[in-house]
Amino acid sequence: MNIILLGPPGAGKGTQARYLVENRNMVQLSTGDMLREAKDSGTEMGKMVAGVMARGELVTDEIVIGLIKEKLESDTTHDGFIFDGFPRTLEQADALADLMKFEGQRIDAVIEMRVDDDALVERITARSTCGNCGEVFNDNTKPIPADGKCDHCGGTEFKRRADDNEESLKIRLMAYYKQTSPLIGYYYAKGLLKAVNGLGEIEEVQAEIAAALKG
Ligand code: AMP
Repeated sequence: MNIILLGPPGAGKGTQARYLVENRNMVQLSTGDMLREAKDSGTEMGKMVAGVMARGELVTDEIVIGLIKEKLESDTTHDGFIFDGFPRTLEQADALADLMKFEGQRIDAVIEMRVDDDALVERITARSTCGNCGEVFNDNTKPIPADGKCDHCGGTEFKRRADDNEESLKIRLMAYYKQTSPLIGYYYAKGLLKAVNGLGEIEEVQAEIAAALKG
């Protein structure tokens, strides 16, 4: 089963994708993670996208489609892909449809994670992740354990994303509404869209997604 997690920054796509990876043997394809990796390892492409990402704008369709194409061709041992943060434009959605067709696969469901803007600001500005396993923490609702160790892997280094600040978030939200939200209609028309309330507890959202994927 191949699915897309669609939603604004801070909706919980990454958190839910991690859960699906661990429980359903799926592979997470996060273009945000791939781009950050390129940036951190200092590749030419990474240097090119660094400024755009820091501002909160979208990188070109060509770059992200290339990244996804590479992964679709190389990752095979799993029970499906979770597209997290991709597609983000109609052009990317069309390209993904073509790539999947070429691979003899299809998108089975698109989960739209709904969260209101105020909650997004709170989540994003309070968010940090374990530098080792990527577990997500929130200063208010799920703080880093008092012993300074990640409760998932025991890691002791935690990171905050450079673009997790109010200024970048405004631009990321604008990009979401302007360039990405048209995908809601695009996938609704294909009969693939399932909306879940992304505001609940992590376990509640997990259950809603599981129900959406069943029926
Ligand atoms: P994310 O981790 O999904 O929030 O992505 C972080 C940043 O990477 C975004 O603000 C964009 O600058 C860039 N990015 C990630 N995925 C895409 C995509 N599918 N299309 C364009 N830019 C992307």
